[in-house]
Amino acid sequence: MKCPKCRKIEMDRETYEGIEIDRCPACKGMFLDRGELKALISKDQGNVADNLAFSPTSDTMDAIEAHCFRCNKKMTPVQAPGDVLVNLCENCGAIFLDQGELATLQLHAHQV
Ligand SMILES: [Zn+2]
Ligand SMILES: [Zn+2]
Repeated sequence: MKCPKCRKIEMDRETYEGIEIDRCPACKGMFLDRGELKALISKDQGNVADNLAFSPTSDTMDAIEAHCFRCNKKMTPVQAPGDVLVNLCENCGAIFLDQGELATLQLHAHQV
């Protein structure tokens, strides 16, 4: 599957905390199927930032329109906890996170 934002870049299949995710080697964005984001956030493990090469969320990447290659549909930017803008496919429920956004979401979830 290709990256929803880089378009031409083929994503890598990675296993993170027992969950299979698609990760873009170029922008480090993550493509998560429905339910996977929740599963990742609810995991109470150590430092997600280390594991996912954390860097601050890039506004530049937020400005790029994401496209779900599974459904061939435009993804909708939605506001998530922690003031993060994530891309949601309203058709299949998949979510695309820019680099660092998972860490921000997780951090926020832990504060609640
Ligand atoms: Zn990418
Ligand atoms: Zn989709």
